[in-house]
Amino acid sequence: MPTSDLKRLAIFAAVVLALPLLPFVPSFWITLFVFIGIASLVALGLVLLTGVGGMTSFGQAAFVGFGAYTTAVLTTSFGWSPWLTLPVSLATTGVAALAIGLVTVRLSGHYLPLGTIAWGMCFYYLFGNLQVIGAHDGISGIPPLHFIDQPLTGARAIYVVVWIAVLLSIAGTLNLLNSRVGRGIRALRSGATAAESSGVNVWRAKLLVFVYAALLAGLAGWLYAHFQRATTPGAFNLNIGIEYLLMAVIGGAGHVYGAILGAAIVVLAKNVLQDAMPMIFGFAGNYEIIVFGVLLILLLQVSRDGFWPAIAGRFSRLSGVAAPIDTTYRLAKGDMTLSPDLLLAVKGATKRFGGLVAVNDVSFKVPRGHIVGLIGPNGAGKSTTFNLVTGVLGVSEGEIHFAGERIDGLTPRQIAARRIARTFQHVKLAPGMSVLENVAIGAHKRGRAGMLAGILKLDRAEERRIFAEAAFQIERVGLQAEMHRKAGELALGQQRLAEIARALCLDPVLLLLDEPAAGLRHMEKQALAALIRRLRYEGMSVLLVEHDMDFVMQLTDEIVVLDFGTKIAEGAPAEIRRNEAVIEAYLGTAA
Ligand code: ADP
Ligand code: MG
Repeated sequence: MPTSDLKRLAIFAAVVLALPLLPFVPSFWITLFVFIGIASLVALGLVLLTGVGGMTSFGQAAFVGFGAYTTAVLTTSFGWSPWLTLPVSLATTGVAALAIGLVTVRLSGHYLPLGTIAWGMCFYYLFGNLQVIGAHDGISGIPPLHFIDQPLTGARAIYVVVWIAVLLSIAGTLNLLNSRVGRGIRALRSGATAAESSGVNVWRAKLLVFVYAALLAGLAGWLYAHFQRATTPGAFNLNIGIEYLLMAVIGGAGHVYGAILGAAIVVLAKNVLQDAMPMIFGFAGNYEIIVFGVLLILLLQVSRDGFWPAIAGRFSRLSGVAAPIDTTYRLAKGDMTLSPDLLLAVKGATKRFGGLVAVNDVSFKVPRGHIVGLIGPNGAGKSTTFNLVTGVLGVSEGEIHFAGERIDGLTPRQIAARRIARTFQHVKLAPGMSVLENVAIGAHKRGRAGMLAGILKLDRAEERRIFAEAAFQIERVGLQAEMHRKAGELALGQQRLAEIARALCLDPVLLLLDEPAAGLRHMEKQALAALIRRLRYEGMSVLLVEHDMDFVMQLTDEIVVLDFGTKIAEGAPAEIRRNEAVIEAYLGTAA
């Protein structure tokens, strides 16, 4: 966690934990704050799942139910002591989330939220109909938590437990977001393709964040059961799931503290509305749900970022200046000489999109330590060829071999593992993350710290090396001045350079650059050319797509020319320059 986060958390902790000590705060308010704390845990998970990971879930209340019912059953029917049930409550919630996640996380677009609605309803009816857990009456007589011999009845007593849980969860979540696994999660929404090409297992990252969010909900359920001392299925209904989602959205779906703000707003509003609405309508009912529904729709229309960013602006003076990064101790480099002389061989590769043949029976080779240019007019099939080599698209026909191994049919992640790195013609960076963090994603495969290590901050030594590596590559492409800026704020040419740095972080033996010089000024192009030459000198091979012919001609050892998906020429730059067919199809217009 950066120091600015730590300071913020310390201030927040001091305020929150001092509150119940104040004699003039009425018990009614303390009770509300307990509810806010419990709801904050669920909302915090949703901030990660929905705001950061881009997966909307209406079904989070069901996981609260798993946590609550597990401890309810164990304490009332089996006489377990409440603290002992905590790990079991978390385990049941985690296992349930894993099972549900395995089948729903793969759903894309609107099918995922629909899926969450389905199991959200499903579990409500399950809780409500199972006789062993009291069916619609639920379970009552749940014992309170104890602190040594002292029962934590009353809101003032459990308040501290709840808010310590919230504070620890905030700290763990911030740590997670600032870890290797967390960067993968943060890249899900905007840069899943690029993350996958950097070796991030996108599906696994989604599943992890799904289970993590469910565990926070399970913890909330466990606390809820011991605070209310009773569970009823109605508390884990789809309605409540919508409320939790509203909390995450209102507060600011991508912001950790937004979860607490959102939980506070919704819990307080619900309290006021439950008193006020029946007076307006004349009879009792859950009218607040109508207001919340309308509010959710309005909010999604007007301000998707919620309220937190506006408030966070006031705290921004807390964030310090980023410390310079020592690039001495970087990640260990792989061997550049192991691979056979012939590195990449594309053999009769064909790609059809319906009736369109984007790449038509194309063959070429990239020998080790060579820079090969791939040129041709727009729409010639250059980027498609890149996608075939990197596994983003599958070949319709033909084969692709790399270092003697057939690689067509492998996933982008498997290809990244073979140390093939790429940039994208249409830049794919996570715009909200810093340049440094984006570039660090490129080193994903070179680290090994898992989710738990991230949460507990046991990954510091590795993280230092990852960031040293990222900073080193950023300096190499000349972006050191922009290192701590958000990637989305950079000019397009600079974003391309950031993508090159990210690709270099993968420690590639083969680097594919798709129009890297587009948008660069003359001096920047010269610097880039010098860098590419330097990379070749170090043993790297490069496949280069570029429209700037001076750039291509001065750099490449061989050039392959595509036109309408077909290879029309191949040879040394000087030959290509004189080639009639190439002049006709491309150079005539480009020059
Ligand atoms: P280049 O990079 O040489 O400009 P592309 O490889 O991007 O060309 O595109 C080659 C052809 O394939 C174009 O006609 C383009 O419209 C088409 N194409 C590329 N990607 C797709 C896709 N995913 N679906 C359908 N057509 C595509
Ligand atoms: Mg292209």
